[in-house]
Parts: sequence; C-alpha cells; structure tokens
Amino acid sequence: MPQIQVLDEQTIDKIAAGEVVERPSSVVKELVENAIDARSTAVTVEIRDGGTTLIRITDNGCGIGRDQIPVAFFRHSTSKIRSVEDLLTISSLGFRGEALSSIAAVSQVEMITKTMDDFTGSRYLIEGGKEILLEEVGAPNGTTFLVKNLFYNTPARRKFLKSPQTEAGYINDMMERMALSHPDISFKFINNGQIRLHTSGNANLKDIIYHIYGRDIAANLLEIQTEFEDFSVSGYIGKPVISRGNRNFESYFINGRYIKSSLIAKAIEDGYHGFLMQHKYPFTVLSVHLDGNLVDVNVHPNKMELRFSNGEQLYRQITNLIHSTLQQKELIADVAVKEEKKDAEKPVYDREKIPEPFEQKRLDKIREAVRRDSPYEPKYERNMTGSVTGHEPTPDLKQTTKDTLREAITFGHKRDEKHSTVHVNELSPEETNDRLPVSSGKQPEQKSENASQLSLSDYISDDTRLLSEEARPKHRIIGQLFGTYWLVE
Ligand code: ADP
Ligand code: MG
Repeated sequence: MPQIQVLDEQTIDKIAAGEVVERPSSVVKELVENAIDARSTAVTVEIRDGGTTLIRITDNGCGIGRDQIPVAFFRHSTSKIRSVEDLLTISSLGFRGEALSSIAAVSQVEMITKTMDDFTGSRYLIEGGKEILLEEVGAPNGTTFLVKNLFYNTPARRKFLKSPQTEAGYINDMMERMALSHPDISFKFINNGQIRLHTSGNANLKDIIYHIYGRDIAANLLEIQTEFEDFSVSGYIGKPVISRGNRNFESYFINGRYIKSSLIAKAIEDGYHGFLMQHKYPFTVLSVHLDGNLVDVNVHPNKMELRFSNGEQLYRQITNLIHSTLQQKELIADVAVKEEKKDAEKPVYDREKIPEPFEQKRLDKIREAVRRDSPYEPKYERNMTGSVTGHEPTPDLKQTTKDTLREAITFGHKRDEKHSTVHVNELSPEETNDRLPVSSGKQPEQKSENASQLSLSDYISDDTRLLSEEARPKHRIIGQLFGTYWLVE
C-alpha cells in the first residue's frame, strides 16, 4: 500500500481548477462575476485566439487593497461570506473563493488593481499558482486581469479545447447573458480587436435585447413584471412568431445569476403549450428574484445549477404567468387588403367587423362562399416568365372567387382603408414605425381581374421584409385560415 499524503497546495488548486475552469469562457464568467460583485458599472472583456492566449478584463469596481492581494489568490478565500449561514442571504454571485486560485493555477495571471482609498495601485504576477511579483504602480480605480496562455501547464485540458472561433463564440454567449442579466452595467466585448458587444448600462433590458438579437425579436416581445408571494418575475417573453428551433434563446436568471434549470425550462415551455408548434422553443429573457433561503446555490463549483425549495410552486406560477400573458395578446401578424371596391360591390357579409379568430359564424360564411365557388377549380400552368397563372374562369365565377379570396385574406383582421399594412397589434404607432416595416403608401400595380393572379404584393407594402423583391412574383396568397395562417402558393 503506497503512503497516504496530503496533496500540496498547487496540485489541489490544479484539481479544483478542473471543475471551475473548464474553458476560456469559464474564466470570463468568473472574472466578470467578480467585477459585478465589486459593484462595477462598466466592464470590458477583450480576448485573443478564443481566449486561449489572452483574456483581459477591466472593471471600475472597488479594487483590492495591496495587503489583500496574495490572500485573494488563496483557495477558499473570499470577502463575500463568513459562514455557511451567509449562504441563505447571499446577494453576490461568488462565494466559494475558488476562482482566482483556480485560474492562477492553470495560466499566467497579471493583475493591476487600485481601491478608491489608495493613492497608488498594485501590480501582481502569478503563474501556475506561483507568486512572481507584487509591486506598486500607477493605476485607475478598479481592477484589470490579464490571463495569458490558459492551460499552458495542463496540456490534457488544452487538447479538449475547440477551435478559437468556437471558444470565442462561447465567450460571446457568456457576455450576452451577462449583459442581459445586468442591464444596469455597461459591457464591452472585443474579440481579436473587433468590438462585438457594447451595451450602454442604461438599465433598459429591451434596448439590450434589440442590440443583441435585432429588431425582429425586439418587435415581438411581451413584457412580464409580476410579484408573487415568494418571488418576482420580470423581463420579456417572445411571441410565438419568433419561436426558435432550439433552446438557446431561452434565457432565465435567478437572482442575477445565469443558470441552467430543467425546472424553469419546463415551466417556460409548458407555459407556451398550445402556442408553439412541436419542436419549437420560445425566446425568453426572464429574471426571477427569490429569497436566498428558498434556493441552494451551492450545488456545483461553477454555480450553473441551483436547487429550489419551492420548486413546485415556482413551476406552477411561472407556467401560468406565461400562459396568461400569451393569452392576453393578439399574437398573429395581420395583413390587410387595400380597399378597391365600391360599397355596392361589397360582398354580402359584414366585412367591417373585426372578428375574433375562430369565430364560427364568419368561418361558416367563408366555407359557404368557397362551396359556392367550387365548380371553379383553377388549373395552374407555368407561363413563359415562370409565374403561375390560372385558366380564365367564366366572368361570374371569376368575380366570386376573387371576393372569396379577398374575404379569406381579410378575415380576422383590422383593415387600413388606404394602404395595405402589416400590423403587430400592441406596439404603439411610434414603435411600429421604428421597428416594423410600414407601408410606403404606394399603390400596388394595376390588378388583373383574374382572381388566381392576386399576388402577395397586392396585400403587402413594398418595403416589408416578408419576401424579397425577386421572390414576390413567385408567391401569391391564395387564402387565410382561422385568421392565423396565410395560404401562400
Ligand atoms: P469569490 O468570488 O468566490 O469570493 P474569487 O476567487 O473569485 O472568490 O475572488 C476572491 C476575492 O477576491 C473576492 O472575494 C473579492 O474580494 C476579490 N476580488 C476578486 N476579483 C475582484 C475584482 N474584480 N474587484 C474587486 N475585488 C475582487
Ligand atoms: Mg469569484
């Protein structure tokens, strides 16, 4: 039997680093969390080669006093808790005191820091857990970390890294989550000299969503702001129209912490039940705040998992909240038709009313109209230009079919008397102008009398993003179902 020995400090740190520092993005996560805990209002992250050769993180937080610096790099040294009881009321992101020691164990670290009270700053070098230098330097308030050559002394770890682009992608994702979970902090992310993200820190979450995900997503959000007895939920959920093919767009934060929780993910997805097609996932950015004693953050060293003591209640209330928010809103983008007929030519049934989706009476009328038209079955053929046209129907049928089609398209929608317009209901006119394509007011081309030649461009203004100029001639709306689906040929 070999002798039993306590491992030396550096070996212990390297082993611990295996859990805390899996890849460059973990370094970024830990150091940005430290910057947030240090009450910074601006944090800049710069990387080279996916963070494998250099990660630089600068904050304007409280800094570290010179005499405290070596201690900060000890394992389990922290300023954030004093005893295990403090975990129940913890408001900081860190508390295990493992990040600095772990990072320093597997890379070459240079740190420059200055507190507001000190006249000069300090520069500290530590490589592979070995202290190299501590000196006095001039520095602004706050802390800068340079982490060079990550895993230079643990080649096995280094081998498991992906390409620099992929690692940079992970860091980019991490920075986006940091920005989304802390809208009151200005974040800047620079990759190989290029600014990839820069948020203002103006506390406006919608601005950040717009900045990160673009206007399509920002224009299709529903706000959530609800206080329950034991917790509160705030943020935005995406309308079903911006659903995604994977879960990458489901972001949720617990007490400002980005985590992965199957319970919260299920609560969100179940809230969308009936609103999304199968294998579609919602867009969410939700912040849940709950009492520290209802959640155990000390489940894993990287703190990406949590345990809730009120899990069932949390699940139920989040699901109901999302479901009721979705139910309150008209969620379908509307398309309205340009008015072109005189009153006398209006079809027999009432077109002015804005019907509820699924309204049976109107559906029946449309079915009836379609049934009346049924002798006319357009046979389509491709003409020389590649567009699709129907055979000429007899004049009477032609008119009825056109009415039916237009009615089907108008069904379920608000109408704009002058222009064809894409509506998204609950946006203010101002927001609509800002974020959605609006009608140019241009009249569509002279329409053919042939109903089968009604084209998408007849219904949608020229500057919408629904179809490109080239694609439009190849598509036409042939009807609309339940005020929900456009039938496009
Ligand atoms: P933890 O965050 O769990 O306390 P760390 O190893 O990440 O442990 O950091 C150790 C300590 O170093 C922190 O508790 C904090 O006091 C100090 N510290 C680390 N980073 C910063 C920073 N950017 N600004 C000010 N203090 C910092
Ligand atoms: Mg920390």
